[in-house]
Amino acid sequence: MKKTVFLFLALCTSIVLQATETVSSPNRRLTVSVQVEQGVAQYSIQYDGQQMLMPSRLGLTSNIGDFTQDLTLKGSKTSQVEKRYDMTRTKASHSDYKANQLEVTLANGKGHNMVVTFLVSDNDVAYRYTLLRQQKDNPKTAVITGEASSFRLPDGTTTFLSPQSKSMVGWERTKPSYEEVYSADAPMARPSQFGEGYVFPTLFHVGIDGWVLISETGVTSGYVGSHLSDFDAVKGYTIAFPMAGELNGLGSTFAGIPVPGSTPWRTITVGNSLKPIVETTVSYDVVEPLYQPTQAYKPGRYTWSWLIWQDNSCNYQDQVTFIDLAATMGYEYCLVDALWDVQIGYDKVEELSAYAQKKGVNLLLWYNSNGCENDAPQGPRHKMDNAIVRDQEMAWMKKIGIKGIKVDFFGGDKQQVMQLYEDILYDANRYGLQVIFHGCTLPRGWERMYPNYVASEAVLASENVFFTEDAAIREPFDLTLHPFCRNATAAMDWGGTIMNRYMSRDNKSRHTRKTTDVFEMAASITIQTSIQCVAIQPNNLTELPQVELDFLKSIPTTWDETRYIDGYPGKYVVLARRHGNEWYIAGLNAESQAKKLTLALPMLQPGQTISYYTDNKEGYAELRQVKVDKKGQVKVVMQPNGGCILK
Ligand code: CA
Repeated sequence: MKKTVFLFLALCTSIVLQATETVSSPNRRLTVSVQVEQGVAQYSIQYDGQQMLMPSRLGLTSNIGDFTQDLTLKGSKTSQVEKRYDMTRTKASHSDYKANQLEVTLANGKGHNMVVTFLVSDNDVAYRYTLLRQQKDNPKTAVITGEASSFRLPDGTTTFLSPQSKSMVGWERTKPSYEEVYSADAPMARPSQFGEGYVFPTLFHVGIDGWVLISETGVTSGYVGSHLSDFDAVKGYTIAFPMAGELNGLGSTFAGIPVPGSTPWRTITVGNSLKPIVETTVSYDVVEPLYQPTQAYKPGRYTWSWLIWQDNSCNYQDQVTFIDLAATMGYEYCLVDALWDVQIGYDKVEELSAYAQKKGVNLLLWYNSNGCENDAPQGPRHKMDNAIVRDQEMAWMKKIGIKGIKVDFFGGDKQQVMQLYEDILYDANRYGLQVIFHGCTLPRGWERMYPNYVASEAVLASENVFFTEDAAIREPFDLTLHPFCRNATAAMDWGGTIMNRYMSRDNKSRHTRKTTDVFEMAASITIQTSIQCVAIQPNNLTELPQVELDFLKSIPTTWDETRYIDGYPGKYVVLARRHGNEWYIAGLNAESQAKKLTLALPMLQPGQTISYYTDNKEGYAELRQVKVDKKGQVKVVMQPNGGCILK
């Protein structure tokens, strides 16, 4: 009898050994298949029967074993995952996450086990690796030296990618900082600009209407930030670890984990339109809050003198001007940028903070993250890189009523830098400070993981519109691309809807802004961050039509829902976002022709009258009232480099 059972089990196991494991989404339209052939583990992805990812490698190399070859499929387990949770600082305030989970156990040639966990929801795949204790008790740690994880898109796929920079180059050797130019619809075979691959997130157009957004989430102090390698005709794109030169060459490019322990999640959002790309919450769905907020953090808008008035404006009187401006606009915050430690001084910042609070405004203070990461010279320096000094500094900030910090100039994606981000966030929470990062890496699930985290720059942002005319020309392209890519995966501190016509303090000299006023106003809706910069200038108060000022005073920065309406990355975008009971529909046009669209808006009532902000001939906003037609549609026109808003 016992023998029979044993034989039967052996038979089952051998069937499992041969089998391809598959797991489908709850609605069964998205399927992941995992296969081990000749010792190599691969996965592939289909959506509605269309191949979205060709068989692509799985595996990692570590100091406790090679898990890239000689693999056998030892078994698998499926289960269901359901999560309902609320968020306060992303594109949506609630997520109902339902996924089917497949856990595949792979053994390498030495009989050591690794588990690959796939979570498959209706439009998202997330997977990660878990290393188990190999013998009874040891080893208890592993150094992950690389990942074989690859992404092979079908032939003919076009790409929307931003290259990874070389390290220790650029201004004061501060790169890489996720501040390179995205290319649109490029062929896969085109080599990356610097030969270092591409930063996340990465967007791919597959076939006629297939879209794939690849990124990662859940990166903490427990791992490195990864990116994608250059394209290889055989391997596709592969997960790449930080470059040796990052962080001034200090630290390793490897990741260290405890055993048992897991890597972050690789995420792949898939659809046959751009809707799932814009609306995905996978960055948040597969992570958990890592600590509790010490208070209810307040979202809002901020004024910022530095963008147009630059370094000299970090003086007491100019900051009073921008605090007054924030108060006039009803904004919650004013950001005091770099050099305040010298040009204002700690005592006078206390006075400034007291002045701001009397006006109903709270200050955000800029800090340099250095340290020994790069040569960025601005102060305050050596305050955020050291736990002892940081603690004293944050206690002082709490005492004088500072509500947030913007920390700039980080040193790349090594695990030590991830540790610094996490340490700053955790300490800041103890002192009631919200945190914005600049000159930094992509946030990976951080809005949910760290409850006082707001947003990161990690984009070639508005400061470049000020710096160079080329960037001003490219602004419409950039801002119509990011809702589908950079800002689809994480909050983005673009640093300001700019209302000046000229990129100068006198608003008469230097190069012009290339966009209409409605474009900039609509961008304050399409750009997602819970503390939004509105880079309005004091002179704008008398220059702008009242209808524009009224709108800028009223913009929300938190959203209950986000819906894709129309668009194409780098050409145009129309999004709908809900704040409470009110929908804001915002459109941007980067094309050289006026764009006439009939928008299907199922969230509005047929016959309902709504406000329509459209571009007039002088590039100012004109406010009209329009009716939603019987089919729930509204016709809009967006001028070249213009936009529209419906609310
Ligand atoms: Ca920057």
